[in-house]
Amino acid sequence: MPDIVLATLNAKYIHASFGLRYLMANLGGLRGRACMAEFHINQTPLEITEAILLHEPRIVGFGVYIWNVEQTTEVVALLKRIRPELIIILGGPEVSYETDGQEIVALADHVITGEADVKFAEVCALLLDTGNRKPDTGKEEAAHLSEIREPHSDSRGKDEAAPLSGIRYPKSGIPKILPAELPALTQLASPYDFYTDEDLAHRVVYVEASRGCPFTCEFCLSSLDVPVRAFPLDAFLSAMQRLLERGATQFKFVDRTFNLHLPTSMGILQFFLDRWRDGLFLHFEMIPDRLPEQLRALIKKFPPGAVQFEVGIQTFDDATSKNISRRQNLERLADNLRFLREETGVHVHADLIVGLPGEGMECFGRGFDRLVALGPQEIQVGILKRLRGTPIIRHDAEFAMRYAPHPPYEILATRDITFPDMQRMRRFARYWDIVANSGQFTTTLPMLWDTGYRKADTGKDGGETGFGIPDTGKKEAAHLSGIHEPLSNSHTADEVFPLSGIRYPLSGIASPFASFLRFSDWLHATLRRTHQIALQSVAQGLFDFLTGENGADRATVAAALQADWNRTPGREALQLRGMPAAPAHLKPAAIRTARRQARHTQLPVRGEDKTVTL
Ligand code: SF4
Repeated sequence: MPDIVLATLNAKYIHASFGLRYLMANLGGLRGRACMAEFHINQTPLEITEAILLHEPRIVGFGVYIWNVEQTTEVVALLKRIRPELIIILGGPEVSYETDGQEIVALADHVITGEADVKFAEVCALLLDTGNRKPDTGKEEAAHLSEIREPHSDSRGKDEAAPLSGIRYPKSGIPKILPAELPALTQLASPYDFYTDEDLAHRVVYVEASRGCPFTCEFCLSSLDVPVRAFPLDAFLSAMQRLLERGATQFKFVDRTFNLHLPTSMGILQFFLDRWRDGLFLHFEMIPDRLPEQLRALIKKFPPGAVQFEVGIQTFDDATSKNISRRQNLERLADNLRFLREETGVHVHADLIVGLPGEGMECFGRGFDRLVALGPQEIQVGILKRLRGTPIIRHDAEFAMRYAPHPPYEILATRDITFPDMQRMRRFARYWDIVANSGQFTTTLPMLWDTGYRKADTGKDGGETGFGIPDTGKKEAAHLSGIHEPLSNSHTADEVFPLSGIRYPLSGIASPFASFLRFSDWLHATLRRTHQIALQSVAQGLFDFLTGENGADRATVAAALQADWNRTPGREALQLRGMPAAPAHLKPAAIRTARRQARHTQLPVRGEDKTVTL
């Protein structure tokens, strides 16, 4: 039986825990006395507790994150009830800051804050050596821990209980809160051999070539990770080679700024390009305003849909950017996004955040419209979260920032966005994900702001290249300046929307934001829910809204929906109320691109369930 169980609750089965594999790899001589136990947050705490206890461990280490802290707290509480002597060690971003007052911290024996890769092994070695007895002085063991710093300011001295948190030094005499010094990346053992063949075949493989971020966005935990540190490139690429040889195809880079250091970015891209094979998929996070010519040339060589860039934009508003200490060059950003969309096959997933200090609905909407015009295949509308340790709290008073008290600590209201409007934006984000980001309605979606409708009128079946960027071959279209005359009752700049009260100053231009917000409000009023919606119901909703509320031609809208529907072969014909069903006609094609990305490239998606629920 292993002495140490390394456990975590992943958000989904498909996410293999990177942190656990790092801890395992760096256990040194203790590795043979440890095992990993991965769960997901939809399993019951009792089930997880039972599985952990089956190993009869002496120590359980938990990776604690914003998505699992509530469930992990329940598991720790159960473990302590059943086996009070079991030593619980916590680590991870959710317990690395503001530990005082956290229920899970009060329940645990030790908390390692910061990067615990090496520190966890040190603490385990000491605990297993000494057992769980109370030392004479309470200080000897602590002295063996290399470079243990002064306890966290909110921790307490030995035998002293914090009156509010109940935090108490455990009997081992080792401080409860143990800040980990930054490990030298050259010294870290590689975690990649701890991906099993099952992981490589069925789960996303996380990899990293660097840690940290040089930027200082106040909402982001990575802004605290200074400086940026890189893994030795040769050793990293050797590890990637082994993964490729073992059959890995999906690589998700967790580096916060993949394109920060040009030689490294180019070395990695060239490495994968040289070994390219059908089915490979690479995901990178990039800063959007840095894409030098050499990198562009390399990116162009990848096949369509094979590379995904997650582009954090967050806001287009200068004043808001300044409020959150975010620096970005919007002109270069726009130029780079245009390059990616027009000259490469890269799948672009761009992020915006609702609820940043100083940004109201109208301001956010202008940014959203600018982003739609730049044509990324996906726009993630994130709701601001107040992550522990981040300096964004300095704005709480001035901008009346009200966050939910429980994870994921999302913003509820600000000086500039009321609670009801924030709720609308939550629904907007969810419906945008279902309708737009899913890639299920690429032809129909732009009809919401009318261009797709007009194009369909001309006999072309949409030909969209992204969100409503019509494939007219004219660059102006990409800036929404070439939009055809709006439908008579579509929502243009000079109109004040009755539901939102938002006025758009961009005269003569239909606003995707306002149009979709109106659809989102209508859909919610109709369905009264945002989850468990059958795809057929979404299609019917689009049909009813476009033909009823917007007065669009029924046959044209039905044809657009049918084209979207048929893109996934094998489905029964779409049945729209009051319209005859057309037969499905597309045949499966031999493609291996990731499904969601394939939809955005307008390729038929192979073998998908015809009764999709979103
Ligand atoms: S949001 Fe992105 S650029 Fe800003 S600090 Fe975080 S990782 Fe760095």
